[in-house]
Amino acid sequence: MEDKRTEGYARALAKLIQAETVSSLDQDDPEKFARFQGLLRETFPQLFATAETELFDGSLLLRWKGKDPKKPPILLMSHHDVVEAPGHWTHPPFAGEIAEGKLWGRGALDTKGSLWAMLQAAEELIGEGFVPAGDVYFESARNEEINGAGADAISKALQQRGIRFLFTLDEGGMMLHDPIGGADGTFAMVGVGEKGCADLKFIARSKGGHASSPGKNTPLVRLGKFMAAVDSSEVFQIALTPVVREMFARMAPTMKGPMQKLFSHTDQLAPVLGRVLPKFSATAGAMVKTTIAFTMCQGSQGRNVLPQEAWVIGNMRYSHHQGREKSIAAIRKLAKRYGIETEVLEPGFPSPITDWHGEPFHLVERAVQATFPGVIPVPYLMTGASDSRFFSRVSAHNLRFAPFLITEQQLDSIHGVDENVDLDTLAPAVDFYKYILREG
Ligand SMILES: [Zn+2]
Repeated sequence: MEDKRTEGYARALAKLIQAETVSSLDQDDPEKFARFQGLLRETFPQLFATAETELFDGSLLLRWKGKDPKKPPILLMSHHDVVEAPGHWTHPPFAGEIAEGKLWGRGALDTKGSLWAMLQAAEELIGEGFVPAGDVYFESARNEEINGAGADAISKALQQRGIRFLFTLDEGGMMLHDPIGGADGTFAMVGVGEKGCADLKFIARSKGGHASSPGKNTPLVRLGKFMAAVDSSEVFQIALTPVVREMFARMAPTMKGPMQKLFSHTDQLAPVLGRVLPKFSATAGAMVKTTIAFTMCQGSQGRNVLPQEAWVIGNMRYSHHQGREKSIAAIRKLAKRYGIETEVLEPGFPSPITDWHGEPFHLVERAVQATFPGVIPVPYLMTGASDSRFFSRVSAHNLRFAPFLITEQQLDSIHGVDENVDLDTLAPAVDFYKYILREG
């Protein structure tokens, strides 16, 4: 059924995509973010006339005052910077073209889509004369994709003001058919936590020397052996934590045969499942343990020179059950066996898991059921990092979900080529946020 709002919605979101907002650590361009925010003001005039606006080095915070000052506030978030768009695109990344029932462009899903939808919901409600019960804050950072400095600063400022939110709702999971292979249902993946992210440097040293008489175990060889060991052995603890069990338990009724048996009995079968899952898919594997990805490396500067120092960078995502310190200790111990030093470049920011039995999670569940009938809400653990992690400072309930029905292609298009969103999902997405604003 065609929703008559869809065309206008698509055109409004297309304009936000056309205002390019790629964030970069090498080159900061505050102007283009200011232009984008000017466009927000034009698109949502009543909201910007009603709410108080504050800027934190170009990251945006809005406060829409509620009726009852005693009611705790809520916070809706979506960053407005995007990642670069290299590669060959079917529709140019910053053209905002509408074709084949989709809107194409960088940021359509990550995360101008949800930013647009939540502000549109507020704009329409203000037009209807609605005033929220408690204060509603909107946060939109301009640097989520590079360092999260905006969200870090805003969450600290809110903490200093003594503000505690009933909940925060940021980007995270979306709605997908069969997200794990074998579950015949459409699931709303509501992130209740995310893994921490640390950057480690592994350094192998030697006296150096000429490449004509290398001897054994030169620095690059040691690094190679070390990386191979990480790849082939279980360095980190595997555990099927309660959130992963809950996710499978809710998916199990849509599975068939042995899979259904396995996933309905995660309590007894946890040890088996924990070992099987990483073989099943990299994403499922990442949910049950700390992972480390080797991303950069360097040897000597000469083709015939042995390095005095060679290094690789490992990007670590630490699990909640093993944690930051123990995960780093485990990899440090292994590295030492190969004569390699471990240096922590960036320790990251561990954040807790939100209780999915709490009222905020139930509210999101109800909003999904009301606006996307038949979709099954599921708590899950995000393996990627988001701005949400900083907001555990100001709320015990940090939920990570954007109300878009997407395909696997669309999921892969986030940070990839041909990012796009279905036009049909735009109107229910606005309705989702309206539900949250009315009932939250
Ligand atoms: Zn992103």
